[in-house]
Amino acid sequence: KRTPFIAGNWKMNLDHLQSIAFVQKLAWSLSDAKHDFGAVEVAVFPPFTDLRSVQTLVSADKLALGYGAQDVSRHDAGAYTGEVSGAFLAQLDCRYVIVGHSERRSYHGETDEVVGAKALAAVKHRLVPVICVGETAEDLEEHGPSAVPAAQLEAALSGLKSDAEIVVAYEPVWAIGSGQAATPEQAGQVAAALRGVVARVLGEEAAERTRILYGGSVKAANIAAFMREPDVDGALVGGASLDIEEFSSIVRYQK
Ligand code: 13P
Repeated sequence: KRTPFIAGNWKMNLDHLQSIAFVQKLAWSLSDAKHDFGAVEVAVFPPFTDLRSVQTLVSADKLALGYGAQDVSRHDAGAYTGEVSGAFLAQLDCRYVIVGHSERRSYHGETDEVVGAKALAAVKHRLVPVICVGETAEDLEEHGPSAVPAAQLEAALSGLKSDAEIVVAYEPVWAIGSGQAATPEQAGQVAAALRGVVARVLGEEAAERTRILYGGSVKAANIAAFMREPDVDGALVGGASLDIEEFSSIVRYQK
């Protein structure tokens, strides 16, 4: 059975000092609520400059909180100004890295080919890529909800082996930061279609174990409905992950 996974994508918010205070408060809030991290896994995705601070806190206090970066270079090292290697992230004990977020695709021109290369680089450095896919409002109108995300996922998986550990995040672009989440039914249907893609490309076993998250205006008030969908294994939370109370309520969606 797949362990539910609640992930907070901070985007370009919280500097390294703020990240320390935030992680301390989040850890305190979840431990005060006796959160069982084995039952619902939790991870945060801070900016690169916060990762050392987060690592220091997590390791010193033996926190069960996971963390990772929001992007990774497709290259291992070399003359790639501004890029960060998966090897460096692995050295900071990152377990995860987000690849192919729609903000990277649209503001930085990341193609399916680039996203696939990044997913491969992540796996090579023993990081778990959180592969983001999702359709725009125009795609939705033209092709329906699952065609574009399914094609994006197929491309992203093409270089991976069947034993690669990955997480998939379905994030409809029109639902990100808009306050207008997808319906749980739609998220569930697309998640099922994406699981079909994983099965086709990486095999049935991979499809059974791969967690598929929904992202796009997730908050405490709607998380439980998404989690009732059998193919939705968690959430990738943006705005609401920056509010301790709200994020810890999302994590404790069963309560
Ligand atoms: P919001 O939760 O702010 O809509 O953002 C979703 C997202 O992009 C997470 O990666």
